[in-house]
Amino acid sequence: MDLKNYIRTVPDFPKTGIMFKDITTLLKDKNAFQYAVEELYNLSKNKGITKVVAIESRGFIFGAILANKLGAGFVPVRKPGKLPAEKLSETYTLEYGTDSIEIHKDAIQPGDIVLLHDDLLATGGTMEAACKLVEKMGAKIAQISFLIELSFLNGREKLKDYDVHSIIQYDE
Ligand code: AMP
Repeated sequence: MDLKNYIRTVPDFPKTGIMFKDITTLLKDKNAFQYAVEELYNLSKNKGITKVVAIESRGFIFGAILANKLGAGFVPVRKPGKLPAEKLSETYTLEYGTDSIEIHKDAIQPGDIVLLHDDLLATGGTMEAACKLVEKMGAKIAQISFLIELSFLNGREKLKDYDVHSIIQYDE
């Protein structure tokens, strides 16, 4: 199955110049959705993963399913101000300005073996910040997975110390 056929590219969303990869067209198709879950699961099974850490908000969709299938816990990484309890924060640079992500302080223990997941790898800034949060908590990052990778943005460069996988790639 070519999952690219199920991704809708929306030009100039949310702002001019961005080619937004809309995954709702994949999610609404039961066969494509199941196929994508299996492909992601096959990448991560048998690695002893104890926690799946996923990034708000589209990362939660596959992240939670993967955690359940892998027999691991699920940990959300969220935008500032959303998590209620004590948290760690990491700021990263965007094209214009900065952004932050947060994780609960008690979400991960040293010794946890972590799969990090998000829907899409663009410049890699968001995932690099998430890696820092996980490592600050003393856990080991076993793997990073994405549904989609925009290869031409070279986000992998920021993540070169890790085992990075994606199941759909765009070269332009
Ligand atoms: P980055 O930090 O540049 O790798 O951006 C990754 C985050 O931004 C992910 O959480 C994506 O959901 C979102 N994102 C960036 N570019 C796109 C795009 N072209 N289409 C959909 N989502 C995107």
